[in-house]
Amino acid sequence: MSELQKSMDEIVALCKRRGFIYPASEIYGGINGFWDFGPLGTQLKNNIRDLWWRDTVLCPPIGPEGEILSMVGVDTSIIQNPRVWEASGHVGGFNDPMVDCRESKNRYRHDHLQVLRHRSDESIPMFAFLEGEPEPAYRKIKKQHKLSPEEFTAVPLTEIPLSYLERVIGPDTDKKGTLTEPRQFNLMFKTYVGAVQDEDAVAYLRPETAQGIFLNFKSVLDTMRVKVPFGIAQIGRAFRNEVTPRNYIFRSREFEQMEIEWFCQPDQAKKWYDFWCEHRKNWWQAVGLKGANLNLRSHGKEELAHYAKEGCGTFDIEYRFPFSAPGFGELEGVAHRTDFDLRQHQQYSRAKLEYFDPDNQERYFPHVIEPSAGLSRGVLALICEAFTTDPERPSKMFMKFNPRIAPITAGIFPLVNKEGMAEIAEKLYQELRCRYAVQFDVKQTVGKRYARMDEAGTPFCFTVDSQTLQDQTVTVRYRDTTQQERVNIDKVASFLQDHLA
Ligand code: ATP
Repeated sequence: MSELQKSMDEIVALCKRRGFIYPASEIYGGINGFWDFGPLGTQLKNNIRDLWWRDTVLCPPIGPEGEILSMVGVDTSIIQNPRVWEASGHVGGFNDPMVDCRESKNRYRHDHLQVLRHRSDESIPMFAFLEGEPEPAYRKIKKQHKLSPEEFTAVPLTEIPLSYLERVIGPDTDKKGTLTEPRQFNLMFKTYVGAVQDEDAVAYLRPETAQGIFLNFKSVLDTMRVKVPFGIAQIGRAFRNEVTPRNYIFRSREFEQMEIEWFCQPDQAKKWYDFWCEHRKNWWQAVGLKGANLNLRSHGKEELAHYAKEGCGTFDIEYRFPFSAPGFGELEGVAHRTDFDLRQHQQYSRAKLEYFDPDNQERYFPHVIEPSAGLSRGVLALICEAFTTDPERPSKMFMKFNPRIAPITAGIFPLVNKEGMAEIAEKLYQELRCRYAVQFDVKQTVGKRYARMDEAGTPFCFTVDSQTLQDQTVTVRYRDTTQQERVNIDKVASFLQDHLA
């Protein structure tokens, strides 16, 4: 097991032990691709979600010309008229091509497979692996073929001619030629609306929150006095029947997205695309992904989504997860969707969706820049980033969350449960509890309480001790350094306010 893999195992164990994330339906043996957030995970997710909403809708950013951006929020239905998904391209031509393995019976997304191809000898088989997980292929190369992985180069399977598939060894088999040619597969969950389960009652769980925004473009225009350029934002659940859900909550079948559709004049699209790429990168850095694990990548033309073939393309904000290292996994995509969606919905619904510009007396379809982030993936990236080992501490590790997203902001303890310390600490807790996420704890030794708070990622702990009885000061212990200093008990609230700014 590699060091990187090991730390992922530790992260998963910690998340379970401390109530961040549990497998869904665990007492029934779980259900593949679904996860539940526990008390600490829910609070962490809500904090990230609320910061995004605040920084996007309540207090939108300042634009490239110093203007305050115009942004409104919506919360649309998960199930919509099934025609929506025909118009959007999710039913019909635009499905993800899948590759089956005849031997292992596993199914993979064509664009998620890569092969290791020998640099010079064409007669040596190619070894397929799932993007970001080359280890099993390396093992086959070394053990079974006595070759060195350095002699191979990784190529996306999509770039390998179909006639070469016979020479490819699948990710979960040792045999050549077991992978089928790619076939279309629809990732949307199907359901029935109403009592009768026939074809007319078929509906789908939304695979992205974006379409709900386009459907309400006209209603927002008519009711909210917005003018292009403006944005509509939404946070909500999306569902994809992923063929190989994996890597913990990174690729699950039910997850949450935070999406903005930014409507602008077509000739301004490039300016806004550049603006949003920069702004979204800065946002992730500000909530805690400061280090070298954050990566920015522009898509090659061949990877562009069907709506982004023309225009500025797509920009990915990626994170180096322990399971993807040394590679990266996508956290957010900023796409120039052109006017594809509005045109499609106008054509399919026959509703007039063009924008009328009152200044120029012109009618046109605005172009759309879409920053689309995964909230669940963001939670995972921030958990991985926060996880820090420290052999000196009793807990051997701590979670270095930005204080603004930490599920618990402060622990409040009496050093010991005597001499009235518990009463003073409890009074402090009572004063703070409605304003800050504070936790009062008197059980066990203070060292054990600090250790628990380190695992929860609590940035500050305030302890009432015998000196408090004399000079009304408490100790504040900083999670990241374990250093302690004294602050006046009356100043604890303003201390927290300053550190959360
Ligand atoms: P991928 O290539 O990883 O499947 P995508 O390019 O299809 O992702 P988008 O359709 O752009 O993803 O969705 C926007 C965001 O939604 C992604 O950047 C990601 O953070 C999140 N997301 C997409 N699919 C999943 C999933 N199965 N589980 C968790 N988050 C997801």
